[in-house]
Amino acid sequence: MNATPETTVSDWLRRAASTLDSQLEAQLLLGHVLGRERAWLIAHGEERLDDPCQSKANALLERRQVGEPIAYLLGEREFWSRPFRVTPEVLIPRPETELIVEKALALDLPENARVLDLGTGSGCIGLTLAAERPGWQVTATDISQAALAIARQNSEDLDVGPVELLSGCWFEPLEGRRFDLIVSNPPYVAAGDIHLGKGDVRFEPESALVAGPDGLDDLRHIVDGTAAHLNPGGWLMVEIGHDQGPAGGTLLKSAGFENISILSDGAGNDRVATGQRNDGA
Ligand code: GLN
Repeated sequence: MNATPETTVSDWLRRAASTLDSQLEAQLLLGHVLGRERAWLIAHGEERLDDPCQSKANALLERRQVGEPIAYLLGEREFWSRPFRVTPEVLIPRPETELIVEKALALDLPENARVLDLGTGSGCIGLTLAAERPGWQVTATDISQAALAIARQNSEDLDVGPVELLSGCWFEPLEGRRFDLIVSNPPYVAAGDIHLGKGDVRFEPESALVAGPDGLDDLRHIVDGTAAHLNPGGWLMVEIGHDQGPAGGTLLKSAGFENISILSDGAGNDRVATGQRNDGA
């Protein structure tokens, strides 16, 4: 769209909504440019959009038209009712990942439990747990420095109590340390999966999505590491792919876990594998 002096808020929204086939997305993009809520846009449809605002809004619209995720364009995505800053260097937090948070909060852990979030990305799981349970001592790791910087920024913006953020691959920076709960949303998509060519995932970091030929490479690594890093009686809770329940259950079983469950998300898909470390393990 070209910038024109007579374009109003409602003109822009009408055109953008028909291009994107979504009124909501049009409102989110323009609201982002103007620093206004959707309710403001609706109440101020007659307001004129100046050229710089039109140009910015048009640029976002063009990026959205080629498929860039709305969360990256807005730089933000809500998770467990808190806004998390996101960039293309981290996975976009998804509603189904809230299942890990819900189940972790329901565990009967000590008030000052030690909790580890592996591959924290934006920090959405670890920081949410720290915010909801201020007594828990949360550590989060990521191999990506860029991701850690975003997680750090989120911990400051959300004013979450102290969370230890460590750089390294999975358990690498945690030599000799044990936890009462280990959570993770690791990569679990199989290399070459057709899903990688569709929608938002095309723009997300491959290192946060893909885990070897069957998608289970990182899950295996994490399960192996729990022997040295979970306290007796401690819990592991990991996100898995929609059809990885049986494989996830088998992995936990062979590692000696007890009280294993495969939890389904709101869409009825396998989503979380969880189990408790046997005291004798
Ligand atoms: N849930 C993501 C997807 O649908 C995958 C995230 C992951 O690999 N942890 O693509």
